[in-house]
Amino acid sequence: MYFECINCNTCVDADITMSVCADCSYPLTISHKGNLASQSASPTVTLGEGGTKVIHLSKVAKLVGISKIYAKLENCNPTGSFKDRGSAALISAIKSAGIKSIVEDSSGNAGASVAAYSAATGIEAHIFVPENAPKAKIDQILVYGATVHKIPGPRDNAEKQAKQFVVEKQLFYASHNISPHFLDGTKSFGREVVGGFGAEMPDHIIIPVGNGSLLISTHLVLKELRLSGHIEKLPKLYAIQSDAIKPIVRELNGIEWRFNPNKTTSADGIASTNPPRIKQIIQAIKESKGDSISVTEDSIKRYRKILAQSEGIFMEPTSAVAFAGLETLVKNETIDARESVLIPITGSGLKSTTPI
Ligand SMILES: [Zn+2]
Repeated sequence: MYFECINCNTCVDADITMSVCADCSYPLTISHKGNLASQSASPTVTLGEGGTKVIHLSKVAKLVGISKIYAKLENCNPTGSFKDRGSAALISAIKSAGIKSIVEDSSGNAGASVAAYSAATGIEAHIFVPENAPKAKIDQILVYGATVHKIPGPRDNAEKQAKQFVVEKQLFYASHNISPHFLDGTKSFGREVVGGFGAEMPDHIIIPVGNGSLLISTHLVLKELRLSGHIEKLPKLYAIQSDAIKPIVRELNGIEWRFNPNKTTSADGIASTNPPRIKQIIQAIKESKGDSISVTEDSIKRYRKILAQSEGIFMEPTSAVAFAGLETLVKNETIDARESVLIPITGSGLKSTTPI
């Protein structure tokens, strides 16, 4: 197995102690060069993640005015979010390296997921979270027995403090945002989509994006499967963000945006002001001919309620961001009424105590 740096086009032998490029510090990606249809080995640590169902949302499709909306129920993963796909791969690699204690920083879902897989493997986990992360997410991490470090300020402060703790305590930094193993684990989402839809792939895939692991891995796996002849065309990929925190919209569309600590979002799962893999996010959007837009807090709230009350889907506000984005993309005719859309329900409603 190799690690590849897409920023400076270098390739090195895979090494669990390396997550970023030694030359340019960009997060590494597992390379499947020379074996394009290859799948990574099944994780040795599993809690039954993946294999999530896809359902058709006829009422929301009618409301928005398009042919078909499919939802992939990632909220049904073991800890209630798609992050379990990445955690299974990450903790499997950590276990096989004999590492006993790890440090992770997270807005909540990845922290809970890493805590669960660590608990099942007997690994001690320190999880750094923003102080204002939803109580339900922090409680979930605590129940799994991890040590929670609550850090004041924006999401990025938790990352800084985690890195400092790693140096001070000489522990392993198991950051899901930069880990090549975590990113590779989330590819199972894209493989399942291709396996389920076959030649009838949806025209568009709309994802709420913070640090972008699901968007990037979906793009990588779709490209691999197109090259190997499993699919003909790439669905267009969209990264939807909140109006409050939109570094990807800024990077892609050249708009003015600066982080304002007084402007918050209910979409806490994507509140990343400085995504480390932004280059891959932009590449995925451009190569698939998709886009990145942001949505209002009101529309996030509205779609969370609509999904629950018309389709019976209880999701966290972060997941509602994709539906709010879909509404805009249909209104501005980026998405045609005759086309089909796939949206992952990235996280369970039980993760958030935000009232409707
Ligand atoms: Zn590099």
